[in-house]
Amino acid sequence: MPDTTTTPTPGNAIRDMDARHHLHPFSDTRALNQRGARVIARAEGVYVWDADDNQLIDGMAGLWCVNIGYGRQELIDAAVGQMQTLPYYNTFFQSTHAPVTRLAKAIAGITPGDLDRVFFANSGSEAIDTVIRMVRHYWTLKGKPYRKLLIARENAYHGSTLAGASLGGMGHMHRQCDPMLPGIHRIGQPYWYGEADGLSEEEFGLQRARELEEKILEVGPDNVAAFIGEPIQGAGGVIVPPRTYWPEIQRICRKYDVLLVADEVICGFGRTGQWFGCQTFDFQPDILSMAKGLSSGYLPISAVAVGDRIADTLTEHCGDFNHGFTYSGHPAAAAVALENIRLLRDEGVIESVATDTGPYLQSRLRGVIGEHPLCGHIEGIGLIAGLALVKDRQSRTFFDGDVGTVCRDECTAAGLIARACGNRIVLSPPLVISREEIDAMVDRLRIALDRTYARVSGLSDA
Ligand code: PMP
Repeated sequence: MPDTTTTPTPGNAIRDMDARHHLHPFSDTRALNQRGARVIARAEGVYVWDADDNQLIDGMAGLWCVNIGYGRQELIDAAVGQMQTLPYYNTFFQSTHAPVTRLAKAIAGITPGDLDRVFFANSGSEAIDTVIRMVRHYWTLKGKPYRKLLIARENAYHGSTLAGASLGGMGHMHRQCDPMLPGIHRIGQPYWYGEADGLSEEEFGLQRARELEEKILEVGPDNVAAFIGEPIQGAGGVIVPPRTYWPEIQRICRKYDVLLVADEVICGFGRTGQWFGCQTFDFQPDILSMAKGLSSGYLPISAVAVGDRIADTLTEHCGDFNHGFTYSGHPAAAAVALENIRLLRDEGVIESVATDTGPYLQSRLRGVIGEHPLCGHIEGIGLIAGLALVKDRQSRTFFDGDVGTVCRDECTAAGLIARACGNRIVLSPPLVISREEIDAMVDRLRIALDRTYARVSGLSDA
């Protein structure tokens, strides 16, 4: 990207104001302000344009969320129509309204098994906080208030509220807000390429799942409330578990009566080629959290769907569940989410991910960059993929420095928004991406890899 900070462009005024007044999430404010923020001005389909009119393919669908793509008039109309009729009302104190009720029914219709009752919040993090409060409350109602412990994984991401960050396995987040929420235990992640040490994928999947059983026995089965995991770890770098992993996790949870929670904030709404990642990986959660693709990011909304076991217990018990948010089930957000689900369904978007664009992306990535000297391993399914950057393919040696960020910046320079997660580059484009746009995305990634290779091999400072 050209340095535009000294040229008088529309972006500069925004950049200056931004530097003065805006504290960004997950950012080194000083470094950000020195370089100047990229001002995104508009978007359409799978493309975004910055304020200087540079076009970029949004290979990350915003933050893994704009599943239906940008610029859909139907979602705009749904928001406007709902705001004209009822812009806000709450769902506390004996009240409800049509959009939230219809949305709850629509979610019940697409979630697998008996996940038919839905609690609403506004972000993935709030959904995760809701999960924690719900499972603890559930066990208390069941007469087992000692079942309080939660088990999660290393390198998991479950949000940025105190509870979400505590449940997540990101050390750099823990270090900044220590002490974290107590009562959380952790097992290893199913990262075969990086951690398997010679085991086959199948063996490693079972081995990592069985760490759950060991942990349950270590802390005492009667003390464990729930196990939570993302079907595919997203922010951890798109870690796709071996096929053996989730069925074994499910078996262990059932054996010890531990609730199984799927955090589908990224995988939900078609990312893996089915409505939910648990369907792709063949397990049935007791609780499922969702956000992002629920409204394709057009308005903030999240939800927690629960099965009969939990819903019946909450319902039969006399007394309030003392939890909720002012904007739980916000009418405009609910109307947008409902329309988004309709579009995903009626336009066959998820079927295309399963049978056409998903397999196409996966094979193009392997065909075009699979043999690149920086490419250690590509994993992915549907329209989500992660690429491990390595110094040496043969010995699977990783770089010491921050090669991910170098490559991410080269992607931007080549006209592609990708994301770096440590030494991994990840992609998660809008689900409406065409084959031609996939070609362009992969070609730009290839250019970025070549330039990164030149830089890290000391061949060029470009
Ligand atoms: N869970 C998962 C799996 C996520 O990927 C994220 C966000 N990337 C969250 C929870 C938190 O969502 P939010 O940022 O909307 O709070």
